Amino acid sequence: MNIQERDKNAVWHPFTQLKTAPLPIAIVKGEGAYFYDDKGKRYIDGIASWWVNIHGHSHPYLAEKISEQLHTLEHAIFSGFTHEPAVQLAERLLKRLPENQSKIFYSDNGSTAVEVSLKMAFQYWSNRDIPRTKVIAFENAYHGDTFGGMSVGARNAFNLPFSKLLFDVIAIPVPVKGKEEEAIQAMKDALEHHDVSSFIFEPLVQGAGGMVMYSAEALDTLIQLCRDGQVITIADEVMTGFGRTGKFFASDHLQNKPDIICLSKGITGGVMPLGATSCAQFIYDAFLDDDKMKTFFHGHSYTANATACSAALASMDLFDLPEAFGNIERIKAKHEEFLAKIRSHSNLADARQLGTILAFEIRTGEQTHYLNSLAEHISEFFIERGIILRPLGNIVYVLPPYCISDEDLDYIYGAVEEFLNSL
Ligand SMILES: *Cc1c(COP(=O)(O)O)cnc(C)c1O
Repeated sequence: MNIQERDKNAVWHPFTQLKTAPLPIAIVKGEGAYFYDDKGKRYIDGIASWWVNIHGHSHPYLAEKISEQLHTLEHAIFSGFTHEPAVQLAERLLKRLPENQSKIFYSDNGSTAVEVSLKMAFQYWSNRDIPRTKVIAFENAYHGDTFGGMSVGARNAFNLPFSKLLFDVIAIPVPVKGKEEEAIQAMKDALEHHDVSSFIFEPLVQGAGGMVMYSAEALDTLIQLCRDGQVITIADEVMTGFGRTGKFFASDHLQNKPDIICLSKGITGGVMPLGATSCAQFIYDAFLDDDKMKTFFHGHSYTANATACSAALASMDLFDLPEAFGNIERIKAKHEEFLAKIRSHSNLADARQLGTILAFEIRTGEQTHYLNSLAEHISEFFIERGIILRPLGNIVYVLPPYCISDEDLDYIYGAVEEFLNSL
């Protein structure tokens, strides 16, 4: 049996209708911005393997540091114990995070980083005997696939079977260009409810919702309103962190800093699963008490996994080199240049960019983004040309590892243009 047949016999893939999906491509090797399949075909990883990869695949420095850690201490229980990689990573993250952030709570993926943030906010109020249990979230949001994450995310085809089981959220419009006032008014109305615990948002870019972008000014206003209403603000930086938006964190574009920040995806350079939730001191302080019931009773078996922390530390080392932000600036400039060239293409409904993220909204008669029939066709078109770009419905986006070359970016842009011309 070949690997595809063995896969079909034994494996269940994410977000995939396995009855009709084409057989998966078997990847045997990753190197820099490239993957190689079992037939020797090369692909450019144009979406950083679901937005996680930062410095390229199979990076020798990351491999070396992780291997060293594996030979020293691979993992240890994190309740009652600690270790150098976890402490050092917390110190280094706090140095990079906005100044108001003061503690790091570890978990192991983006959804758990979000769960932790919501539970911190709910229990903050519970510990103070103030009944605040509502959450404000943006329409069209994505915060992960666990029940808390689904609850604060957009209600759509993906979570329909669970809709009755999700907790209530006050959804407000995203302050995209021209809708700022509407969003601000909706926030003011939402804050009229006196039981709001927190406001969670993807800062500046809604990823899974279709790379929807909005301004830092609008978000600053919304955060200020929450602050005035004593509502905890949570930035879900799972996708936007680690340079994606052109700054280290999307929150670095803001004047008003969030109280809690969720991190994952790029945190380890895309090598190991790890989640982290940072918080301001006042949140942490609300859990310090002689009463044991005020404890944050949350943890995962792999909380602060030492190997994952060592990968994250190695990734931070690479970020300290001038090349890292040099590459981010280079990709940003290349994206801008191509955007200017393609923006007015007749088959584009919209095109937008922030930092290393470039997105194209293909003009189509169909409304539903995700189940849009165009998506499969788009994927195939790029796969044939040795490029991995998995659209979100009719939204094609380029979100590459920072090591991608100018030549490979030009090759992707050329294919995007060819695709637009073919419609
Ligand atoms: C991907 C993502 C998540 C979920 O992260 P997982 O590691 O896939 O669970 C949460 N929030 C945002 C903004 C994301 O992009």
